[in-house]
Amino acid sequence: SREWHLLSRPVGWPKPEDFALVEAEVRQPGEGQVLVRNKYLSVDPYMRGRMSAAKSYVAPFELGKVMQGGAVGEVVASDAEGLSVGDHVLHFSGWREYAVVSGKNAVKVDPDAAPLSTYLGVLGMTGLTAYAGLLRTAAFKEGDAVFVSGAAGAVGGQVGQIARLKGASRVIGSAGSAEKVKLLVEEYGFDAAFNYKDGPVSEQLRAAAPDGIDVYFDNVGGDHLEAAIGSLNEGGRIAVCGMISVYNNTEPAPGPKNLARLIQTRGRIEGFLVGDHYDLQSQFVREVAPWVASGELKYRETVVEGIENNLEAFLGVLRGDNTGKMIVKL
Ligand code: NDP
Repeated sequence: SREWHLLSRPVGWPKPEDFALVEAEVRQPGEGQVLVRNKYLSVDPYMRGRMSAAKSYVAPFELGKVMQGGAVGEVVASDAEGLSVGDHVLHFSGWREYAVVSGKNAVKVDPDAAPLSTYLGVLGMTGLTAYAGLLRTAAFKEGDAVFVSGAAGAVGGQVGQIARLKGASRVIGSAGSAEKVKLLVEEYGFDAAFNYKDGPVSEQLRAAAPDGIDVYFDNVGGDHLEAAIGSLNEGGRIAVCGMISVYNNTEPAPGPKNLARLIQTRGRIEGFLVGDHYDLQSQFVREVAPWVASGELKYRETVVEGIENNLEAFLGVLRGDNTGKMIVKL
């Protein structure tokens, strides 16, 4: 069985030398554990943070050890109550082909209810992030004009579509290529979208949202956040989900220069972590799964094959190679 180890803490953009694909023995499960053959692995932007030593809301990956991440696989041996060989489970021991997981940390998923990969994306962690961040943190309400960055990504694409389905007055998205912009407008039903590489974000946002925005869902930080503050209407809310534009910075990035605008608009900026919102999980699935099944909410996945390409897939997320959720298929 092969697994990915972190060898050294990346400075700036992660380099292949910071990692190694290592051969490891397959253990049999102990009491209360299952052995899982992983089928789908998740690679996510937050993993960049765990590669650094800095203390955060999750512990850093340990040097010389296998990394972790979301994964879905099939139980091939079980000594855990309620889990049998042949069951499929969602768990957190990704970046490896086989994993021994405590039954307590494995959530049974139904391969007949939805494709297995969707438990990592549209019906999984990134989906709940979109749902909780928009509806709870940004306190979205019908009639709001919503702007989301990273809009062709896993979280962003779902934010814009949930806003549309729940009666937003206007949904605006930004993404990093002409194809992604086309997808947003033509498939996801955004009212307007722009490529942030085509010109200053503030100007492009003003053109796309001439009446301003009530909600900004931030996946990117930097110029996007400053532009959103500049276009914020009275009582506007900004949910800070991620700031992918700064994850590889070696120096702290400058903050938005126009924060004073929050005074006149009575605007609010609030960060959130999906981990605090799992109480919404069943409500989220109840509401969103039917939209996915009916095609009212569309999703994309970018699937990379093979454990040997796990690292490249992760780097691809930071570069923007993906449309929708980036998944590694084993
Ligand atoms: P995505 O599927 O959105 O992939 C990341 C995307 O970011 C890329 O496809 C790329 O698209 C875009 N990107 C990369 N660099 C830049 C840049 N400099 N400026 C603008 N866009 C950039 O990932 P996720 O949906 O998984 O995550 C989206 C965000 O949400 C991330 O910031 C992540 O950290 C955050 N997150 C936060 C959670 C929380 O609990 N708070 C939970 C899950 C995710 P493009 O081609 O458009 O540039």
